[in-house]
Amino acid sequence: MPNLSPQRRATSAVAEPGKSASVVDGLRAAILAQPHAPTMTKWLGLATGEIGFPEFARIEIGQNKLDCLTIDTTGACDLTCEGVCYYNPAIDIKEAPVSEQALRSAILDAKRELELRVLVLGGKEPLLNPVRAFSILRFAAEPVPGPGSIGFSAGIITNGRQIHRHWGELEQAVQNKQLQFLDVSIDSGYAEEHDRARGREGTFKLAHAAVLEATARLAPARIAIASILKPDNIDGLLELLRISAPSVRHFYVTPLLPPTFSQTSGVGPDTIKRFLDAVASLFSTELAGMDLELTFYLGGLYLLELNRSGLFAWDELRETEDGYCYVRHDINKNQVAFQIQVLPEYGSRLGRILPNGTYLAHAHFLQAPNPGKYAVGSIVTERLPQLYERAKTTLFQDIAVSRAAHECRKRPCWTNCFGGWTLAENSILRGIPLQCRPAECVKTEQDFALLEDGIRC
Ligand code: SF4
Ligand code: SF4
Repeated sequence: MPNLSPQRRATSAVAEPGKSASVVDGLRAAILAQPHAPTMTKWLGLATGEIGFPEFARIEIGQNKLDCLTIDTTGACDLTCEGVCYYNPAIDIKEAPVSEQALRSAILDAKRELELRVLVLGGKEPLLNPVRAFSILRFAAEPVPGPGSIGFSAGIITNGRQIHRHWGELEQAVQNKQLQFLDVSIDSGYAEEHDRARGREGTFKLAHAAVLEATARLAPARIAIASILKPDNIDGLLELLRISAPSVRHFYVTPLLPPTFSQTSGVGPDTIKRFLDAVASLFSTELAGMDLELTFYLGGLYLLELNRSGLFAWDELRETEDGYCYVRHDINKNQVAFQIQVLPEYGSRLGRILPNGTYLAHAHFLQAPNPGKYAVGSIVTERLPQLYERAKTTLFQDIAVSRAAHECRKRPCWTNCFGGWTLAENSILRGIPLQCRPAECVKTEQDFALLEDGIRC
């Protein structure tokens, strides 16, 4: 997750929040308040038609900035999170792992040539291959000349079961400035609910104890709890906030997306609003003044409904120095930040290396039984900058250009979603043409009519 701290740069004007009804008006007001906002400026240009989609693709392809690279240290996991795992269970995890030398070369190239800012060790469960995980952290922290070495950070995303076995290595990695963040996935404050969803008893106890202990043992690394909002875990997540707040400051919540990302229908705008209203209430009463920061991920699909529901106003949008859009609300000395993603990142700013060295332009391809089928190539046979360039000039460009003739263009939600741009790769998995409405969008003609009328939900 990007750091959504406000830009240090001074703003030249202050917009009056909540006054701009349309995305275009809101973006104009937001840019007036924060003149250096390249992402919002591109978004506005696409929304008004001043920038065409092929031109947008050309601009992005011209930038050599792979902001964030995820390396899967292993394809194994000690849990079986039914129905919500990012990885297709049929993926062959017995393939020979790529050599560490190949990974080192990829990291070095990304730092030297692609301004790599963030390295994430993912998994499935990265701490099931601790030798490789800590070795990569040690190597990645070594300074290299070039712009990528400025502001570089590395971290681990883990299900928390293995942390207690590795305190020594983790402490050493923090002390040696090799580890800047640790995200532990927990989806409920109720042990039974979490363990049921994760498929293994005792997981909550291990993960929650570890995350609390990490805040003391691994400072100054940023320790966070990362959760998925599901149709039935609002109470569990609120309880998780309550019991963790005395120690943990950072919380990330992502709404469950519909299939193929999960085997359920995902959560819609009503559940998201209900959850965020409950968080606001908790932050303003029971947890007031605790300096908590909850970041909620909002893709384009439901943005208009959530804006109409009063959750945020378009002119409250701001942008980090790294070009991530967000809205931040202060609630009694706590903060809720909406990380708002409408323009695509995978393929141009994000990339992933699987345990066997396969380079994926988009993590959504992990939903396929054989993600290699959709790979850009492999770091075994090519240098990372070549793979990155190919990802931009093939998949990324094709998806961007397909927006020019997209069937959603006349829809009221077009300017805040652009036809489900951030999940368009899924259409490739499903064999749906890129210019068609993606299957993840379940809006009906009645929904469109309500949105067209500007009715507040
Ligand atoms: S912990 Fe993560 S990788 Fe493992 S099964 Fe659960 S969702 Fe999948
Ligand atoms: S109709 Fe198209 S633009 Fe609107 S929310 Fe659905 S996918 Fe996005």
